[in-house]
Amino acid sequence: MVNLTINGQHVKAASGSTILEAARSAGIKIPTLCYLEGVNEIGSCRLCVVEVEGMDKLPTSCNTIVKEGMVVETMTERVKAARRMVLDLLLSNHVQDCFSCAQNGVCELQKYCNEYGVEHTSYEGTRIKIEKPAKKEHPFLSYRPELCIHCQRCVNTCAKATGRHAITLGKTGMFNIIEAPFGEDWEETLCESCGNCAQACPTGAITEKRRLAYREWEVERVRTTCPHCATGCQMDLIVKDNKIVDVEAADGPSNHGLLCVKGRSASFDFVDSPERIRYPLIKNHKTGEFEQASWEEALDLVASRFTEIKNNYGGEALAGFACSRSTNEDVYMLQKMVRTAFMSNNTDNCARV
Ligand code: SF4
Ligand code: SF4
Ligand code: SF4
Repeated sequence: MVNLTINGQHVKAASGSTILEAARSAGIKIPTLCYLEGVNEIGSCRLCVVEVEGMDKLPTSCNTIVKEGMVVETMTERVKAARRMVLDLLLSNHVQDCFSCAQNGVCELQKYCNEYGVEHTSYEGTRIKIEKPAKKEHPFLSYRPELCIHCQRCVNTCAKATGRHAITLGKTGMFNIIEAPFGEDWEETLCESCGNCAQACPTGAITEKRRLAYREWEVERVRTTCPHCATGCQMDLIVKDNKIVDVEAADGPSNHGLLCVKGRSASFDFVDSPERIRYPLIKNHKTGEFEQASWEEALDLVASRFTEIKNNYGGEALAGFACSRSTNEDVYMLQKMVRTAFMSNNTDNCARV
């Protein structure tokens, strides 16, 4: 362990950890924009600068390693002025369009500009002309280059967390530009539509299109488990006026803030679908059509048919095959019924696919 002082507070940090990690472990907040723990630690935005005794320059706390006896200050006037300068420079290449931006209310750039009192850039006349048009041919995602701050959180999320390498860092003239695969030929790209890049983006540059249908202050979040497979990813349903309008990955033990395309984009439309079956159906053998029945009628019919098969052919003639989308509790109950009521060990589950 290493002993250091941050804002006059004695802090013990693991050797090899960064100033940012040491500060966060002690409950001291340092603002970051490009930093994403374990995924993007490139120290490019410079918002996390701090003052360290004995160092002339302000080091970036996200990639400066702690040393024994280090004395760190995170909120001096010099540090605050440097952060205001960073935000000012970011805004100089940014089209401030908060009213129509999908990220209004949760944008990290907006949040820090508000916190540090930076309303507009002071670099009038230096804004670059964004030559690249918005990309919005993707079914779920869109990219607005004029809102991008080139933090590369999307690039490294796609490469390191999702493992797809579908987003790259390109050049337009002397400026960096993010090449997001959301144009006309997106189906030909490596993108698998998981949306993890959109969740990682701190601004409104890469967003889920459906975000435009709501604003942050209109919704509530409900933590739940993805219904699509047995991995058990944790996610938050975004609910507006009692309807699910979106899904965000939560930091669960098996998904660590990530989701696949099914979890993020196929987990809620069916809830209010008019095609959803909301009551039991029994086939009328004369017409061949399914007809609405009560639960009592349906359960009586199933129980009598099971009993008939068991009496005529023995319990081994019956089996229970559970759906991998069911909860563990429901799957347990099914096998219990098969073993105790059918008197059969024929139970299985499709989860192994
Ligand atoms: S990215 Fe943030 S600061 Fe920029 S327009 Fe959108 S909400 Fe406003
Ligand atoms: S949606 Fe997923 S695969 Fe596609 S670019 Fe974003 S992170 Fe990569
Ligand atoms: S698209 Fe978003 S995450 Fe990617 S570099 Fe731009 S601002 Fe950062």
